[in-house]
Amino acid sequence: MAFEGLASRLQNVFGKLKGKGKVSEEDVSEAMREVRLALLEADVNFKVVKEFIAKVKERAIGQDVMKSFTPGMVIIDIVNKELTELMGGTQSKLAKANKPPTVIMMAGLQGAGKTTTSGKLAKLLQKGNHKPLLVACDIYRPAAIKQLQILGEQIGAPVFSMGDQTNPVEIARAAIQHAKENNNDYVIVDTAGRLHIDEALMEELKQIHATVKPDEVLLVIDAMTGQDAVNVAESFHSQLALSGVVLTKLDGDTRGGAALSVKAVTGCPIKFAAMGEKIDSLEPFHPDRMASRILGMGDMLSLIEKAQSNIDAEKAAEMERKMRNAEFTFDDFLEQMAQVRKMGPIDQLLEMMPGMNKMKGLKDIKVDERQIARVEAIVKSMTKEEKGKPDLLNHSRRKRIAAGSGTTVADVNRLIKQFDDMRKMMKQFSSMMGGPNGPKGGK
Ligand code: GDP
Repeated sequence: MAFEGLASRLQNVFGKLKGKGKVSEEDVSEAMREVRLALLEADVNFKVVKEFIAKVKERAIGQDVMKSFTPGMVIIDIVNKELTELMGGTQSKLAKANKPPTVIMMAGLQGAGKTTTSGKLAKLLQKGNHKPLLVACDIYRPAAIKQLQILGEQIGAPVFSMGDQTNPVEIARAAIQHAKENNNDYVIVDTAGRLHIDEALMEELKQIHATVKPDEVLLVIDAMTGQDAVNVAESFHSQLALSGVVLTKLDGDTRGGAALSVKAVTGCPIKFAAMGEKIDSLEPFHPDRMASRILGMGDMLSLIEKAQSNIDAEKAAEMERKMRNAEFTFDDFLEQMAQVRKMGPIDQLLEMMPGMNKMKGLKDIKVDERQIARVEAIVKSMTKEEKGKPDLLNHSRRKRIAAGSGTTVADVNRLIKQFDDMRKMMKQFSSMMGGPNGPKGGK
């Protein structure tokens, strides 16, 4: 998995902070030191790292992190936002010509994935009901034309080729004419690559550029090559005015440096990310999603968003106080079920929480009206004392409750197990939110 090392290091750093009810300035500085190291080890450009840390610190001071009720979460939120900014902020979409065809010129070093990506891009455009034309301008790499033709066949897209004896500039010119005559609304020009950037290559690319006047010049870079990819992007950009970057091989164990530095260093947005050899493994690049993914907490963030928008804050605080003082009762359990229900299917919620898949009891909860009615009946058949102390519920009491509520002992057992798991879940949730039940908190 891409970013694994970086993700696990960052998660470690934040794991320590999240558990704390209060953080000191020293804690924040220590965390920032560790984030800095993690980024450098992920091969992020050192200038980029320096600026990044400075921005995070500035925001942290601005937001008075230390005084916040959940300092750990606030810092993660800041880092998440800055990472998103670093990668371009918002999604950068493909340009569109006023008058078709939209011409996309693909450039890149040999082996970066240019030809494969041209095919993938054509496929993506087809999905949007477009009619792309692929153009084989790489006449130097022996198999390149054939490779593009095979890709074209695979997806049912036309490939324009004039063999390997015609000048690529001529091929490109003829291809645009061909596209116009055949109603192709996109033209994807696969150009030649080299093992290293050289003058002849650049000259040819410039000539093609001048001839086809592309709406997009996309540089394909191999994310696995880290800083090298960023250097390549810088030199291409200085000569060819790139409009965007495609990062390939994000499915490999890339450390992430290229993804995190290329926008900051070159100013070119990442427009697409390729995550596999298959033809449909190209995706529009979303900086925010990538940031969450690197932080290993995309789902946690949406979970917190869900919680914030659906759960009554006062009630939640009251529940938390009860948990802390071990006052959480079966009545609260009922109330909690109703609250959780507002957030959506419980199994999906559990999947969003790290470590939650271990709680089998909760997985079986079906939070529908019937189930709530049954739980209500069981809870009402308990004495006041029993409601607060599940330990009291021996076999004969369970039998009595089952009889009183019109359910079975198995139903009662299941509910008690779920109650226990719910208590565990609340503890964990509260510790993830940096609450007082965290490992270093009040308990
Ligand atoms: P070009 O020389 O730039 O045209 O590179 P190719 O398109 O021929 O790709 C070089 C190699 O990288 C091929 O074996 C591709 O299958 C592989 N490749 C391209 N993109 C990806 C990707 O996103 N993930 C993986 N794992 N392999 C890729």
